[in-house]
Amino acid sequence: MFFKDVIGQTEVKQHLAEMVQLNRLSHALLFLGKQGSGALPLALAFGQFLVCEKVNGKSTSNQQGPSLFGFDEPVEPMNTSPTLTDACGECPACTKAWQMVHPDIHFSYPVISKKSGDKPKSTDFISDWREFIQQSPYGNVYDWLQFIGAENKQGNITAEECNDIIRQLSLKSFESEYKILLMWMPEYLGKEGNKLLKLIEEPPANTLFILVAESEEQILPTILSRTQLVKVPLLENVEVEQALIERNNTPPEQARLVAGIAQGNYHEALQLLQHSEEDWLSLLREWMNVTLKENQLGQVKWVEEAAKLGREKQKQFLRYYNHLLEQCVRLRILGPQNLSLSEPEKDFAARLNKVASVTQQQAIITELDKAAYYVERNANAKILFHALTIKMLHIIKDKVLVSVV
Ligand SMILES: [Zn+2]
Repeated sequence: MFFKDVIGQTEVKQHLAEMVQLNRLSHALLFLGKQGSGALPLALAFGQFLVCEKVNGKSTSNQQGPSLFGFDEPVEPMNTSPTLTDACGECPACTKAWQMVHPDIHFSYPVISKKSGDKPKSTDFISDWREFIQQSPYGNVYDWLQFIGAENKQGNITAEECNDIIRQLSLKSFESEYKILLMWMPEYLGKEGNKLLKLIEEPPANTLFILVAESEEQILPTILSRTQLVKVPLLENVEVEQALIERNNTPPEQARLVAGIAQGNYHEALQLLQHSEEDWLSLLREWMNVTLKENQLGQVKWVEEAAKLGREKQKQFLRYYNHLLEQCVRLRILGPQNLSLSEPEKDFAARLNKVASVTQQQAIITELDKAAYYVERNANAKILFHALTIKMLHIIKDKVLVSVV
């Protein structure tokens, strides 16, 4: 992976390259970025950058061979690195890193047990891992676990994996100056992660830990305190839009609409496109109707339908509704221009503005955020959507009470 393959994140890339050039690299880095920000591709690109021979000023094409006269003339290192901002892509180290077969870059990620009782390590799934990254560098952990057939099994970074890391890092590096351990989703480390503490605190020479995480709160605090933070922000909408057009051949108008909903999350943008046949607006319209008319039978039917969607689609639907409400606020303030909405959506947003005030819409947004959080954590969908229906009705009815008084 190259830095140029990573969408946006110009400042972070620059910061990383400078850390190398100025020799300010800490031995344990934590790349912290929400899903779809590109923290993993960024870490992969950084790994390649670190081993690239040109970046290290070691490229054989730049070096003079042994002196013909039997003594070594002082050789000026032809170090081209100070200006290099990406791996060269030509040296053997780059080729290996790009194929994810470089012997000094180790990968660690959550895996599942194939049959009960076995104790899986990340390397057991290495060919799947390479294929997954190739196919979906912006994939999330859910995609990955489905990719290896987890279904409902929980992924884990196991104690055996920790032992394997300790073993691998105790070896001398093979080809590169650095030995790198890239761990994706350290959130999946249980208590056994404490086995790694000593290694992170006092690593063997030239060993670099790169942890790539989404959620700071879910990482063992003992590990967190030993790492240097590299924050990877969400992308700008225009970067997502541009990437969709260039990498995914999305028609510009659709790219603009989808980028508006995805809000800096490229993974989400791709998912939305995949499910663009989903008619979220109709589903939402139906929900509002049965809720506001207090049609209880209709509500039960709607909730059953929503419960059948599955976790990923439920999250998408909630996000869609959230986006629409945010656009409602914009519509009030800025008028119908420059909204990330299609015509029927604009029409619906105008209606929503009639039934709910900004404060009420904000209250609904808060509830939707909470719901998305619980969906993520496998809450019972029927109960969740039923409760949400009741809350939404309360929020909107309160306005009626207020306006009557
Ligand atoms: Zn290179």
